[in-house]
Amino acid sequence: MCGIVAYVGPKDAAPILLEGLQRLEYRGYDSAGLAVVNRGLKTRKVKGRVADLASAVPARFKGGIGIGHTRWATHGVPSDLNAHPHLDAAERIAVVHNGIIENADELRAKLTADGVDFASETDSEVLAHLISRTVKDTDSLEEAVRTALKLVVGTYGIAVVDAERSGEVVVARNGSPIVLGIGEKEMFAASDVAALVRYTRQVVHLEDGELAVLRADGFHTFTMDARETAKVPLTVDWDAGHYDTGGYEHYLLKEISEQPDTVARTLRGRIDDRFHIAHLGGLNLTPHETRAFRRVKIIGCGSAYYSGQIGAQLIEELARIPADAEPASEFRYRNPVVEHDTLYVAISQSGETYDTLAAVQELKRKGGRVLGIVNTVGSAIARECDGGVYLHAGPEVSVASTKAFTSTAVSFALLALHFGRVHDLSPADGRRICEALRLLPGQIAQILELEPRIAELARKYADHPSMMFVGRVRGYPVAREGAQKLKEISYVHAEAYPASELKHGPLALIGPDMPTVAIVPDDELLDKNLTTLGEIRARGGRVLMVGHREADPRLADDCIVVPKSEVELDPILLTLPLQLFAYHAAVALGRDVDKPRNLAKSVTVE
Ligand code: GLU
Repeated sequence: MCGIVAYVGPKDAAPILLEGLQRLEYRGYDSAGLAVVNRGLKTRKVKGRVADLASAVPARFKGGIGIGHTRWATHGVPSDLNAHPHLDAAERIAVVHNGIIENADELRAKLTADGVDFASETDSEVLAHLISRTVKDTDSLEEAVRTALKLVVGTYGIAVVDAERSGEVVVARNGSPIVLGIGEKEMFAASDVAALVRYTRQVVHLEDGELAVLRADGFHTFTMDARETAKVPLTVDWDAGHYDTGGYEHYLLKEISEQPDTVARTLRGRIDDRFHIAHLGGLNLTPHETRAFRRVKIIGCGSAYYSGQIGAQLIEELARIPADAEPASEFRYRNPVVEHDTLYVAISQSGETYDTLAAVQELKRKGGRVLGIVNTVGSAIARECDGGVYLHAGPEVSVASTKAFTSTAVSFALLALHFGRVHDLSPADGRRICEALRLLPGQIAQILELEPRIAELARKYADHPSMMFVGRVRGYPVAREGAQKLKEISYVHAEAYPASELKHGPLALIGPDMPTVAIVPDDELLDKNLTTLGEIRARGGRVLMVGHREADPRLADDCIVVPKSEVELDPILLTLPLQLFAYHAAVALGRDVDKPRNLAKSVTVE
């Protein structure tokens, strides 16, 4: 989390840093700050949003080198003092940091014993003092940064300036992303290309354990033991327009509304009507290797994990390969047994989710074969995996995932079709799925037309303190994602349960104050689901049914009817109305839809 921006060049840095921070604000937004070099360091930092920082920066804030930060606090409350940049005592060194210094207490104690006074409660401030100690003895900021980082245990993306070496910025990465942007006689760095695309499309991703020295005329990258590394710049496809709200009130609504196009992009060129198969060029798996896998294990965090549950079901149903999904954040900590005949699939919109990246690295270390389903081209997880599928959904800015969720589920449908057709899925079933996949963008557009009705329902249900979401088998991950979306952006407590489990415990919660959103697809479990609705109604519970046919008024108070796909693909479409429901509930409750409290996108801390 948190966003870093850095600039070296002939222009004034402050406006560029502020613009960049605005683009990165989705990554953290409890405080913001910047420092520019101009005969000494000039800094401004405030608790609050980037807009608050912008008003605190005077119009004449000259200096062509600078660093900026938008924070998601891990150590110390959001406050002006804890906001980054952090300076050393002599106010010569300024540092912005994304990540966590795990041995900060120990380093802080040593520095304090040496007479250093700390101005903040953050872990990050130790970096400024450590760099300051060596920079006096060496002529090189890069050397001082390297020496300091050798003492540090933890994760970081950092940017550092030295008031006495005003021609350069040093950046380094270990676990938190840093991307360099190459301009005309100017250089940029940021946590995400979002901050750069207004200025350049030529970027270089740093690897973990790399440092870079940026000067206006170019850059050099090094390993931690000072060996220079060679980098090939990538051209970014996304431009600044992708990061605007495009006339919508919120990014979230824009991203929900984009889904007919984003799903079409995920599918484009990937369906083969001759053999009724999916073309996924980046998998790097021969049919022989594909057949050799006996299991598929999917890992991801938050909504990525729920889309992975949809994926596991698709793979089991279409390819008949046992598949399951697990939160990457749990997987990585439980010393997983890694088997040579299991295929691992890691999901991350940003491709930088730290828990997922760490799980992938652990898998690779143990010799596991890992595919990535990722939106951001060239991101850490994409680079780390053996192959994978890009979503092509365009940048997702709102913290709550919508279009990336849907495109991930669609990517799993393609993957499941591919695996299925390598195994025993018949050409006729392959054709059935191909035809249904092609219809998805149009069906999503039809669901979006239901928005006024869904908004009305959201307003009707939003004032309940708690809601239950239930679904059976294919509907269960849909219920989980629906509950997650509602929790994240409206702060309404929502529980998701398998419909089959209701009577084994949570039915005790049901009553007039606890309405249920029930996912009821027209599949072989329809009757079972309708029985569950009857049980809820018999306890005085209100029911909002999401399914494929109008509900019997004895079983549901309200109903959202979505277009039918093939049963295997129905979960993808059933999620859409729940996104709109959560969005309108959040708007009705006056929430900060795109930047929900306590959260941030692209969770690059542990
Ligand atoms: N650990 C640092 C802090 O709490 C940086 C957090 C971030 O990544 O924003 O200030």
